[in-house]
Amino acid sequence: MTAALSSHRFAQRCTRMQHSAIREILKVTQLPEVISFAGGLPAPELFPVARIAEATQRVLSTRGAPALQYSVTEGIPELRRWIAGRLNAQFGTAFTLDEVLVTTGSQQALDIYGRIMIDPGDFVVLENPSYLGAIQAFDAYQPEYLTVETDEAGIIPEALEEVLRKAPRRPKFLYLIPTFQNPTGRTLSAERRPKVVEICRRNEVPIFEDNPYGELAFSEKPPAPLIAHDGTGFVSYTGTASKIAAPGLRIGWMIVPEKTLRDKLIPAKQGSDLHTATLDQYILHELVTDGSFLEDHIALIRKTYGARRDVMLSALKEMMPEHVRFNHPAGGMFLWANVDPRIDTEELFKAAAAANVAFVPGRPFYPHNDRRDGMRLNFSNSDETKIRIGVERLATAIRNYGAGIS
Ligand code: PMP
Repeated sequence: MTAALSSHRFAQRCTRMQHSAIREILKVTQLPEVISFAGGLPAPELFPVARIAEATQRVLSTRGAPALQYSVTEGIPELRRWIAGRLNAQFGTAFTLDEVLVTTGSQQALDIYGRIMIDPGDFVVLENPSYLGAIQAFDAYQPEYLTVETDEAGIIPEALEEVLRKAPRRPKFLYLIPTFQNPTGRTLSAERRPKVVEICRRNEVPIFEDNPYGELAFSEKPPAPLIAHDGTGFVSYTGTASKIAAPGLRIGWMIVPEKTLRDKLIPAKQGSDLHTATLDQYILHELVTDGSFLEDHIALIRKTYGARRDVMLSALKEMMPEHVRFNHPAGGMFLWANVDPRIDTEELFKAAAAANVAFVPGRPFYPHNDRRDGMRLNFSNSDETKIRIGVERLATAIRNYGAGIS
């Protein structure tokens, strides 16, 4: 290639911008014979294809050209009102449409929040492990990460306190996914939630809460989001239609009660895409306000994923060697397993792929890449038969790979 394209001509931030490890892994899992627990994909057979076709038709015939026109950066008012109203109805909050910004997936929310908050070398606090796509989005702005240990009840408040106390400079924000987390499926307990908000507020470290899975509860409703524990604009929030409608619509949102922050986010989004697709916003609004459709659809997703989780758990219990430990998520799309620490799950991945089963090795979810014994298993994207066969293949691969480890 020409010298003009050699790497030294690219911005320095590109050194931190790498292809997502998951995308690389997904390439391996594309083969039809591979059962994949690797992707983070919803079940495509549940996508409301016919409803979306009808909604699209209705939008085009009732709204016509304006549905295809440029529109405002903040998003269409109808959808913003619905987003605020849904959270208010569920958690007794009082958000208004002015506090809502529609984004192109919640992934864009991560990017623009990172853009307005992070200067190179700033500290960002993450739970350990955290969402790979957030690390990837923030990496472009060259932060340093401070990580806080988690257990089955989520981020540990005492550990958070300690990390903030020892931070060389005040961190810019804490990013966390308190409910049915990606990658672990864990939920921050109701008891810890106000403590986390209080610790951050006392230390003047704002919180950025990411809640894509909160609607996917298999039994009890999860505790209220952190933003419902605040009232001071200290917590900003992002949600998405990806897991309750379809990710291909690329509709997410932010709730940002603090006006000065909103005033920075809007031009950041404007520079990136002017606004989120107008047509998609109208289609989603039509869909979610179509009688009882949304409630029925979410109930179906919960039931299907809940049954798939149960099948995966019972297969793991039945088939895995003793040293494999796994959790019991109460919702979402993932569970987390740990193998004997002598096994590196990136190496194990190769053996598993050869046996036609895939998962995501844990290392890239740890911002400092400091643990290698974890694996993320997705249960939403395979049917129950495939889940059992896949777990059986994985158990055999682990036994063969770790021969000698019981
Ligand atoms: N945050 C988390 C924790 C996620 O798991 C995902 C999707 N995998 C996203 C954000 C981005 O989702 P979307 O852009 O589709 O809303």
